[in-house]
Amino acid sequence: MNEYRNILLAVDFSEDDHYVAQKAKYLTEKFKAELSIIHVLDNIPMPDTAYGTIIPLDQLTSYESLEIEKNNLTKIADQLNVSSCHRWLVWGEPKQEIARFAEEYHIDLIVVGSHGRHGLALLLGSTANGVLHYAKCDVLAIRLQEEGEMF
Ligand code: AMP
Repeated sequence: MNEYRNILLAVDFSEDDHYVAQKAKYLTEKFKAELSIIHVLDNIPMPDTAYGTIIPLDQLTSYESLEIEKNNLTKIADQLNVSSCHRWLVWGEPKQEIARFAEEYHIDLIVVGSHGRHGLALLLGSTANGVLHYAKCDVLAIRLQEEGEMF
């Protein structure tokens, strides 16, 4: 089996991030890979910039709401020791942008969380399903526990 060299962890700033991140960290260490981290901005308005714009975290910006997102990402990335040049914020639709980013940056494994889904949520589909659909590399979906659910 080929070893993974470039692993991408996708975080949504939910409580589940920690669990998913630990798995990504474990694999990064096991394969002596490079870990990158991405959050896709789908809930704050875009300034005058194109859909899919990538913002390296070490780049300064005067856009105010972006600072909160940057702080969130910095916190997780610091805990995981992700180097500053591998921390990314991207504007757009999470599933498409995660897959697009992975292709552009030669990622060979994407790690995402995956919730069990029922009813309408099942029809709408999850980020993990979408990433799996669009990505050209391997995708590891970490099963997340729902409240009150037993594994
Ligand atoms: P979902 O089941 O659609 O809520 O998505 C769960 C997983 O998808 C999260 O644990 C993340 O790994 C990833 N994800 C969801 N939204 C985003 C986002 N805006 N940016 C990066 N990753 C995301």
